[in-house]
Amino acid sequence: MTITNSRPIICAHCGGEVCGAYIQAGSNHYHPFHFVCSVCGKDILEGLYVEDDGHVYHPGCHEARLAPRCSYCDKPLCGDYREDYWGLRSCIEHEVEFPSCVFCGRMVDSRRNGGSASQGGVRCIVCRRTAIEGEREADELFRETLCWCSAQTLAFSSRKVFVGLCDKQRICKMLGKNPAGKHLGVTKTRHLSLWNGAFRLQSLSVFILRGLPRTLFMGVSAHELGHVWLKQLGIVGLSEQHEEGFCEFLSFRRYHQLKTKEGQFFAGQIAGNEDNVYGEGFRAIRSMAARVGFGGIVESLRAQKRLPIIERVQ
Ligand SMILES: [Zn+2]
Ligand SMILES: [Zn+2]
Ligand SMILES: [Zn+2]
Ligand SMILES: [Zn+2]
Ligand SMILES: [Zn+2]
Repeated sequence: MTITNSRPIICAHCGGEVCGAYIQAGSNHYHPFHFVCSVCGKDILEGLYVEDDGHVYHPGCHEARLAPRCSYCDKPLCGDYREDYWGLRSCIEHEVEFPSCVFCGRMVDSRRNGGSASQGGVRCIVCRRTAIEGEREADELFRETLCWCSAQTLAFSSRKVFVGLCDKQRICKMLGKNPAGKHLGVTKTRHLSLWNGAFRLQSLSVFILRGLPRTLFMGVSAHELGHVWLKQLGIVGLSEQHEEGFCEFLSFRRYHQLKTKEGQFFAGQIAGNEDNVYGEGFRAIRSMAARVGFGGIVESLRAQKRLPIIERVQ
């Protein structure tokens, strides 16, 4: 009796037995006519192949397979490519082909996901997915931000602050500013005229642009709640730069504490804003906070209705 140990040779491509000549690559065997590239399916010329993970490839096909792919057109990125803040890699040429999302800066391939232009610019699919479109979710998220502000030692009066969503045109109209501005929210005050010609604060309403992505909505809420707090305290003597700077600083803190990539992005937008009122105002308040702490600023505003006076170091 003879025991044969030799097992049949199986082609790794078709799974059939190989009887005659075969090609060996790594631990695999192939019918000569089945020694084909796993990417393009074409014959591999002898000697010119790469073996990886049980598959064989043309060297070029293998390189293309391993290369990162364009997030927009799926082409392998073999040469120079673009990578944005969010880690999206893409072909260089898309930069001039696609518009950027007005909120997060991601490029928007409007042919594929039909970015919407309703908010004064194109919105990407990510921002649209978390967009605050309904009054109810707006109210919930606004209340949540109000609780956060209270935890930052900003005490609000018990009177309810109304929050509503509105379109760009209405915000510009309320602010009396041109539509080119980047204003995403506004706080409206209603005063009651008293018999002696004085006024009394009657109600405060916050309006926020409809369709902001969730994180941005939170930051804009925090900013407007800064105005609400100052108005409730009756603080009117701050310069526009200091008032907006204080509100931007509050918004910055909200973003920062979220500890998310989105939060860091919007915090960065505030810190890098070149605007003379918003950007410079933010940096003035931030350096003040570095000296006396955020609590010191809040305390001075509450007790003395003005910002702390920082003595110059000689
Ligand atoms: Zn085969
Ligand atoms: Zn190939
Ligand atoms: Zn591409
Ligand atoms: Zn976006
Ligand atoms: Zn403001």
